[in-house]
Amino acid sequence: MKDWRKSLEESCRSVGELKKVLPFTPEEEAALEKIAERYPVCVTPYYLSLIDPADKNDPIRKMSIPDMMEFSEGGTEDTSGEFQNTVLQGVQHKYQQTILILSTNQCAMYCRHCFRKRMVGMSSDEIASGIPQMVEYIKAHPQVNNVLISGGDAFLNSNQVLRQYLEHFTPLEQLDFIRFGTRTPVVMPERVTDDPELIEMLREYGRKKQIVVVTHFNHPRELTPQSREAVRLMREAGCVVRNQTVLLRGINDKPEILGELMNGLMRVGAVPYYIFQCRPAAGVKNQFQVPLREGCRIVDEAKRMMNGQSKSVRYAMSHVTGKIEILGSLDGEKMLFKYHQAKYEKDNARMFAIPVADGQNWLDTQEIPQ
Ligand code: SF4
Repeated sequence: MKDWRKSLEESCRSVGELKKVLPFTPEEEAALEKIAERYPVCVTPYYLSLIDPADKNDPIRKMSIPDMMEFSEGGTEDTSGEFQNTVLQGVQHKYQQTILILSTNQCAMYCRHCFRKRMVGMSSDEIASGIPQMVEYIKAHPQVNNVLISGGDAFLNSNQVLRQYLEHFTPLEQLDFIRFGTRTPVVMPERVTDDPELIEMLREYGRKKQIVVVTHFNHPRELTPQSREAVRLMREAGCVVRNQTVLLRGINDKPEILGELMNGLMRVGAVPYYIFQCRPAAGVKNQFQVPLREGCRIVDEAKRMMNGQSKSVRYAMSHVTGKIEILGSLDGEKMLFKYHQAKYEKDNARMFAIPVADGQNWLDTQEIPQ
């Protein structure tokens, strides 16, 4: 059995450590050192073992190893209005029914495409504290019917902290379910597979309140025996496991890769529910974004490989104004969109069609008709 804290200790957190496993030229090394000073690096031994060292374009490598593109211009720090939705420190309330908690700034791995790059592994200013205050807030807002405990990575919290969340939230009648957002099954599966206490806790509280675990698989090669076992154990403990994928340039921007991923996720029971448009985050945008029109083509082609279950996944963007489903291209220059989740009541289920240029990656709020 492998203790996940030991795995974290053994993770590569510097370019010097990475170069023992991956060959870098001296120029690359110097450049990567600069990036690592700005955005933290951490790759678990397990995830590192999935990289093909001979392939500079290996998708697993691209998601975990810094790249000079992270210094390219453009993008913003807070792409979906997280600051303006913050109601208590580390607690966001954007959609009527959902409370989002930034429970930690720690992750097992610092994904190069992370949209919370501004804070993961760095500042803890945005991190929540005071679970009793959260409970009070939820009780004062009866329309809230679920909480999403995120981060960073929710499973980087100790079992003791996770238990506190469950202990406080489980008795709240108004909550239909409690959700954890974690990438540990993908990047450090031993957090789940080798921690029977965690599984027992999920089982115990899951008897009182449905627990949903949201995973983040982006490539079929992440579906290893270890990660599949992590998903199996959580499901066997009574959790509903669902997956969010981000559409990423050079990772899953081929229909056959995306289709294989969605079908593979369905096979293991991590039901795919969002393919997210990569956000225009600083340090991410230029390296990973796929234009909307191209994204639509990729998703539609990938869907040809999928059955009805995996096809229920939605291609969507997490916009300042809500989750906007990207429905498709119309004849001519327009694309069709629909609010799947709206921040403002007036946008609920609203559809709109607007011109979208070939290389356009995102929608400005001003472009959306009111
Ligand atoms: S695990 Fe999630 S929060 Fe952490 S770096 Fe990766 S994408 Fe960001």
